[in-house]
Amino acid sequence: MTKLTYKIAIIGAGPAGYFTAQAFQKAQDKELTFAIDMIERLPTPWGLVRSGVAPDHPKIKTVSKVFEKIAKEDHFRLFANVELGKDISLKDLREAYDAVVLATGSATGRKLGIIGENLKNCISAADFVPWYNSHPDFTNVAVDLNTDTAVVIGAGNVAMDIARMLAIDPTELDPTDTAQHALDVFKASKVKKVIICGRRGPEHAAFTAPELRDLPKLENTDVYIDADQIHQASLRVDQMGEVEKDLNNNLEAMQLIAKHDKKGVERKLEIKFLAAPKEIKGIDKVEEVIFTINEVKDGKVIGTDKTFSIKTGLVVTAIGYDAVEYPGVKIENGRIANIAGHVEHNIYVTGWAKRGPVGVIGTNKSDSSDVVDLIIDNLKEPKNSTGIEGLLKSGHQVINQVGWEKINATEVISGELAGKPRIKEVDWKRLISLGTS
Ligand code: NAP
Repeated sequence: MTKLTYKIAIIGAGPAGYFTAQAFQKAQDKELTFAIDMIERLPTPWGLVRSGVAPDHPKIKTVSKVFEKIAKEDHFRLFANVELGKDISLKDLREAYDAVVLATGSATGRKLGIIGENLKNCISAADFVPWYNSHPDFTNVAVDLNTDTAVVIGAGNVAMDIARMLAIDPTELDPTDTAQHALDVFKASKVKKVIICGRRGPEHAAFTAPELRDLPKLENTDVYIDADQIHQASLRVDQMGEVEKDLNNNLEAMQLIAKHDKKGVERKLEIKFLAAPKEIKGIDKVEEVIFTINEVKDGKVIGTDKTFSIKTGLVVTAIGYDAVEYPGVKIENGRIANIAGHVEHNIYVTGWAKRGPVGVIGTNKSDSSDVVDLIIDNLKEPKNSTGIEGLLKSGHQVINQVGWEKINATEVISGELAGKPRIKEVDWKRLISLGTS
């Protein structure tokens, strides 16, 4: 029997991209091979594992070992520093490969759409998170922590990551891979109180229980939640009848936070619910946020005519993301328009770009595996094409797996000397020079 080899292009070297590659690798057998080219805009792979996961949660980043194992398999090639829509077109890729899988994530921060959102020091998580994570495009984000109170809007895990980064003692970040430029700003920070504001009730919060349970363990920060708000939420949930385990776990974790003994330290992190941002006030920069007090009536969250305000010099919005638009794809409801992962022709989508910005890193595994099953079902005769060869301009500085390993080793070695997991290079030119030397 003749051996079939299909050429697959995966765009985006984040968790969804790697899990897609892994699903193809697992589907191989004696008669079937997938030659995988992973194309990445940045000079470095790993996506959100590198530029999204909070530096004080290093365990989550250990999944990068799985990515490196996938990258070491036969028939896998990395093409980093190659941008879709600029260095290479979707049309060319579609013609050159048997299947193209877009795993480009959701990198555009959603907007609140309220007055004052454009004031200085109202920053989207889409800028703030990559800034402290050494993303080379975000080193110059202007972050001013010359305020005693910071407000983080949104009741999800990204809001919690950001609030923790602002509320913990910055010396706790010394043994992490936080960007040095951000560490300098955190060390000069005047912020002593961080308030997370969720617009709905505790029962609607998007936090996950393990992350909530970590909060009382913070060494230098006391965490507050109004015990009565959690109690009221539990009563409402009890009336709903059968309740999902995750929701009960979340409410239990919140009760734990409300009731745990406080350390009496200066640094505080508070989680407020039923607080919908109405207006951000300030002359040159953020000075105050006005919130509408919401209430839950008959299971529905509704606004009241009551408001309250928080004086603050910093607002970070962590209210979700939309997929980035590029030539050749249509965005619908913040996602690349698709049906179960199929976009059109031989183009597919996976991860956040497919389903929206929901789910933890592991969620991408089953999602990508489903998309790969669909692709394999749809495959016809392998194309007689050359793949990426000839599609890039001559002299284009591609960073391949060997080049990335050089960058990786350099970062890890400089980290070792400083007692950190790594010191990430933040400069595009130096990254490219390291990866192509
Ligand atoms: P998310 O979980 O969807 O949370 C977004 C939050 O923003 C929700 O509370 C939402 O409230 C709120 N929001 C949306 N629009 C708003 C508005 N106009 N005004 C006020 N609030 C608004 O999104 P995320 O925090 O960006 O996280 C994305 C995914 O990454 C999640 O699945 C998360 O679990 C995951 N993640 C996991 C970890 C971890 O495992 N450690 C860390 C970071 C992120 P409504 O519910 O009312 O819309």
